[in-house]
Amino acid sequence: MKHLKSTLLLLAAVVVSVSLGAKPRVRIIATGGTIAGVSATSASSAYTAGQVGIQTLIDAVPQMLYLADVSGEQLVNIGSQDMNDEVWLKLAKRVNEILNVEGYDAVVITHGTDTMEETAYFLNLTVKSDKPVILAGSMRPSTAISADGPANLYNAVAAAVSPASKGMGVLCCMNNQLLDAKTVIKTHTIDCDTFEGGPSGIIGYVYNGEAHYLQTPNNRHTVNSVFDVSKLDRLPKVGIVYGYANASPLPMQAFVDAKFEGIVLAGVGDGNFYKDVFDVAVKAQDQGIQIVRSSRCPTGPICLNSEVDDAKYHFVAALDLNPQKARVLLMLALTRTHDWQEIQQYYKEY
Ligand code: ASP
Repeated sequence: MKHLKSTLLLLAAVVVSVSLGAKPRVRIIATGGTIAGVSATSASSAYTAGQVGIQTLIDAVPQMLYLADVSGEQLVNIGSQDMNDEVWLKLAKRVNEILNVEGYDAVVITHGTDTMEETAYFLNLTVKSDKPVILAGSMRPSTAISADGPANLYNAVAAAVSPASKGMGVLCCMNNQLLDAKTVIKTHTIDCDTFEGGPSGIIGYVYNGEAHYLQTPNNRHTVNSVFDVSKLDRLPKVGIVYGYANASPLPMQAFVDAKFEGIVLAGVGDGNFYKDVFDVAVKAQDQGIQIVRSSRCPTGPICLNSEVDDAKYHFVAALDLNPQKARVLLMLALTRTHDWQEIQQYYKEY
């Protein structure tokens, strides 16, 4: 009798856990941004990002509870203009723990839109799982008329539970669209339709609570990335220097004097330097500070050994990466090597 009772109890426990486990477990990590922003009035465009907490964001979208067993945690609550290396390291470690130790099926990250593309790319290179990791934000604060945050969060959770999202690397979900971490760029300062996927376009879209994919990313990411931040508590210092007519060499010289390990040029055209800046760059590279050429142009690759003889100076061409993402890759590359050819290879693969 006692034996039967415990068997029945065990059976009941299995039935309960199977039925509870029927929905995928999605963990939302909140970091702030306009999606958590608050304005003085619903019609006002003056607001402060990173004000409301994770539970308020979840409570605003009860519809997503039909899709997933959703829970959340607050990592930081900042405008993403204040995103930094320390938070990136914390975030990457936490995502890996949630997916690989705590066994969640997917992670959604709420994030400001200003630096969302950088965080997405950083995670794309440092998350060690092929489970979905999707960033969502908003362009209007949570208190605005027609706030876009709730729909973006709902769509992100819908994409996170889709089996088709597995192996896609880290994605951004904004304005019904799914964008790949490598190509996503913020293109408009205030419109909801601000994110684009560059020349290759969006990777998919979310419609009626379902994710549909149009293409797959062809660069190395997540489980195929060699970059590992699990034992790091800081990242190499890398700065960005902007190119323009008659450019001053002072910003680049300042990075050299401050002993930065790498400098990315947001050059003119195909990653070209103003001559005075070029002279400082050549000396910096000779001193072991890695120079990476990117461009202030919104589209087009940086061609290796084209107008600039990279092979002669040991510069690296950022190829398809804009300056802010070229910086992310250079920081991670410098955790492994200072060899310019190996670093160039990373730009070809990632
Ligand atoms: N400044 C805000 C942020 O990036 C803008 C936004 O989220 O849309 O946090």
